[in-house]
Amino acid sequence: MGHELGTILKVRQLKEVSQIPDGLKETINEFNLGDMEIIESSDEIIHLKLKGHSSIKDLLNKGIKTEGSFCAFEAGMLAGIVEHMVNIHCFAQEVDCGLQSGNTYCEFMIVFQKD
Ligand SMILES: [Zn+2]
Repeated sequence: MGHELGTILKVRQLKEVSQIPDGLKETINEFNLGDMEIIESSDEIIHLKLKGHSSIKDLLNKGIKTEGSFCAFEAGMLAGIVEHMVNIHCFAQEVDCGLQSGNTYCEFMIVFQKD
């Protein structure tokens, strides 16, 4: 579901994988999808923090905790946006959710699929 949203958002087309972190930040700011911070990026993965995104925004302060990956919508959306920007197949997953860790942010990993 998030994945489809990611692919219909209007994003800037990028030529280089190295431009993805900036492009992603731009898109997330533009559509008000949360607050993003890159932890690590290479031509294989992007590891990032996201806070204030819709899946958990209203739950964080209510002491609700979940097991497993909660923000699948955002993960799909991130993958969709990146695919749309550079035309490389990728998948994304939430590696650490704020609802589990007690942090104010969630961590996601985007992995580019090589042929
Ligand atoms: Zn989360």
